[in-house]
Amino acid sequence: MEQMITDTAAGAGTRGKAERSTTGMQEAGGLCPACGATVIAATVSTALWEGDALSVVRDVPALVCRGCHEHYFADDTVMRLDLMRAGDFASAPVVAQMIVPVFAFPATAEEQA
Ligand SMILES: [Zn+2]
Repeated sequence: MEQMITDTAAGAGTRGKAERSTTGMQEAGGLCPACGATVIAATVSTALWEGDALSVVRDVPALVCRGCHEHYFADDTVMRLDLMRAGDFASAPVVAQMIVPVFAFPATAEEQA
């Protein structure tokens, strides 16, 4: 969960969990560096932040851990995601729109007092 906190904090930055590279672990059947379980090939959706703008890219090939469900992307996949974002997704057709709820992190009882 520590990673989740870091990623959320970096959400408005340039890099997050979505772009974790598979460097050193390029094959399905390899072991997850985070928990040691086996990873399998799958396609996932990933969220990319650019400033305050959020975009979702789906059907991204990844290795997914069967233990902790962490996603790992091959270097060329990370590069292609970077290129998509750098181009403001201008060359990619929008295939769907989604409306997502946005929440404020709740204040603690002490902050409310
Ligand atoms: Zn894992």
